[in-house]
Amino acid sequence: MELERYLMTAEMLAPGGGELIRTPVEVRFDPLTGHTTRILPERGLMPSGDFDLAAFARENQTHCPFCPGRIDELTPRLPPAIHAAGHITRGEAILFPNLHAYASHSSVSVYSPRLHYLPLAAITEQLLADNLATQVSFADAVMAADPDASWASINANHMLPAGSSLFHPHLQGIVDAHPTTLQRLLAAVPAERFAAYLETERSAGERYLGDTGRIEWLASFAPIAPAELRAFIAGIASPAELDDELTRELAHGISLGLGAYAEMGFESFNLALYGAPPGTAGYRLNLRLAARSNLKPFYRSDSTFLERLHWEGAVDLSPELVAERIGERFRS
Ligand SMILES: [Zn+2]
Repeated sequence: MELERYLMTAEMLAPGGGELIRTPVEVRFDPLTGHTTRILPERGLMPSGDFDLAAFARENQTHCPFCPGRIDELTPRLPPAIHAAGHITRGEAILFPNLHAYASHSSVSVYSPRLHYLPLAAITEQLLADNLATQVSFADAVMAADPDASWASINANHMLPAGSSLFHPHLQGIVDAHPTTLQRLLAAVPAERFAAYLETERSAGERYLGDTGRIEWLASFAPIAPAELRAFIAGIASPAELDDELTRELAHGISLGLGAYAEMGFESFNLALYGAPPGTAGYRLNLRLAARSNLKPFYRSDSTFLERLHWEGAVDLSPELVAERIGERFRS
């Protein structure tokens, strides 16, 4: 497979009428969905923050509905047809319906009621595996109760810049009769194209991070968002099909990525595990993990008119550099 890209050059005179400045802008096509992304020269678009997140956490904890003592009273319960106990627990993780639903079946799962403040480096494989497992059970239970709802995804808005309206760290699940735009586009990708993309990245090596067993990880060729990583699981189409072993393996990979983000100075991320209906032949359950701007007063959002209104990525962290910074963790 040829990874499509082209180069543009912007020319201008330096301020004050000085010398000619030439700026390269590389445009890349996503090998699966065809969306385009601009890879910009590094210009500090994602500065690390000096904001005191721990102090902000203490400030907003006093009225947090997901903290111990409030979570039982202030969160809704799953209807009996989905789950008799009203919420799904695994380890310290607790899943309940999203009070502000985004779908016919919309869930929130906290890593733990006691973890109101959870920096990226502290999101362990165990916390992730337990939290993901609640989402897998949720998808499974919804599909059993509502067979039309076959499109499941597991997602995260971690911290406010990523879109989280509640500070307390959590995952979100959506199970619906209809796909989101990206689920629809990804489900239309032929099986051979998934295989060719991974084969190309394996042999190119510069963005391929490695496999953790049954899951392959790479830095996105055409990232939608900063420091974007992708993971692919062959033979599985839906989160509902993840067994405990694969869930743990996925948690392991995500924790490696988040550990690297923490080291790179990031505190906020988005995650989406894009499911197709269970049993969809040739589909590979796949995930995007991306860093978001750091929280601080008057911070710059990394989501601009390009991402929001043109559906065009624009990042100043080259995918190859991201792979170089993160790859070591997957190889060791
Ligand atoms: Zn809390």
